[in-house]
Amino acid sequence: MVTNLVKNRPVGRFFCLAPLAKQAYSGVSRSFPAGNSSGLFSMPTSVEQELAKGAHLSIISLVDALIEKAQESRASDIHVDPTPSGVKIRFRIDGVLQEVYIFPKEIHGEVVSRIKIISGLRTDEHQATQDGRFRLVFPNMEEFVDVRVSIAPTYHGENVVMRLLSDKAANYTLEMLGFSESDAAKIVKAAKKPSGMILSTGPTGSGKTTTLYTLIKMLNSKEVSIVTLEDPIEYAIEGIEQIQVNPRSDLTFANGLRSMLRQDPDIIMVGEIRDVETAAIAVNTALTGHLVLSTLHTNDAATTLPRLLDMKIEPYLVASTVSIAIGQRLVRRICHTCREAYKPTEAEKENLLSILPEHLKGKLGTLYRHKGCEKCNMTGFSGRIGVNEVLVMDPEVRDAILRKASSTDIRAIGVKNGMTTMFEDGLAKALQGQTTVAEILRVIHE
Ligand SMILES: [Zn+2]
Repeated sequence: MVTNLVKNRPVGRFFCLAPLAKQAYSGVSRSFPAGNSSGLFSMPTSVEQELAKGAHLSIISLVDALIEKAQESRASDIHVDPTPSGVKIRFRIDGVLQEVYIFPKEIHGEVVSRIKIISGLRTDEHQATQDGRFRLVFPNMEEFVDVRVSIAPTYHGENVVMRLLSDKAANYTLEMLGFSESDAAKIVKAAKKPSGMILSTGPTGSGKTTTLYTLIKMLNSKEVSIVTLEDPIEYAIEGIEQIQVNPRSDLTFANGLRSMLRQDPDIIMVGEIRDVETAAIAVNTALTGHLVLSTLHTNDAATTLPRLLDMKIEPYLVASTVSIAIGQRLVRRICHTCREAYKPTEAEKENLLSILPEHLKGKLGTLYRHKGCEKCNMTGFSGRIGVNEVLVMDPEVRDAILRKASSTDIRAIGVKNGMTTMFEDGLAKALQGQTTVAEILRVIHE
């Protein structure tokens, strides 16, 4: 019951709305009333400091500090797992779960209650799963994080998982996502067209949805109507109609897209093109004067086009609707505090020269390897960065689709006409010391 109530309002229940943040919290270091707030702008209490207070700790400050710590550590999730000996706190950082704290088991109930209160959930319900949300505004007032909360009863008590939906998406630019200046320009050009399709591709967790959100935010203005169809809605964007796909009530991508068209939108974002039916409607929509943004599950930009043909879209329709296809991957960013510069050995150099594209060969000088320090939790990496490629639909690519050319052929045409491949983009970033060559080879197999 409770679950459904909250689920039906996927983006509601923010603990604090951003526009209010400036007035509401100036001078106070918290988004919600802190137990120990002096009213002066002070450094937030750390989790360690709070725990050291023993019986006098403030649960409110502890939960605040925990979320801030997670955000600082660039964690995507916080797990609060009750165990017989204590409450295990784990962060998922760069895709990997790490144990960060053990809270005394005596405070487990209070911590869960506090999280339920700020998420708008029932504190007296302990046997059912509950889902909620809240927004935490940070002391500098510029940043906030939206948190999606899932609570489930387990043998040792209620388990909480908080997904941090980074606010960074709110202010991302294409450059910040790792797009080169020229790739960003190609994307912006396609996004400014009144119709056509922009497709972002890559495996799960490759950053393709973030790219679409960034574009949507860029295009968002009073003069255009933007509707999105998502599963799930990951960020709430003001001024945009966001619809949650729900197969149980028959609101599929395909059905949703059909009914959205009656709402007279200019720009439509479809979370993912997964099936033949959605593909057909999306292409038709793009053909009839709408800009359609979507994602596809393919390996690289060039594969996107034959994939649409596999989904029974006629070649001439693919050729006349798709404006650009973006290929994406996320690689770990090397920690700038502890990275180690080194000169590659002759053998290593030879190896690298065999894989580097011509224009990067001259730039092979100092390389960096990851090491590990306190700042990066001894992993040697901190955060992630996108490596991308942008394939523009030019007359030659169009011809290739019409003759049903392979993705290898399409790719070759793209490269000939100025496409930087993900592999090249990644290697360039490694040479700049943003990541490592090993990391690029791990994520992108050429
Ligand atoms: Zn480090």
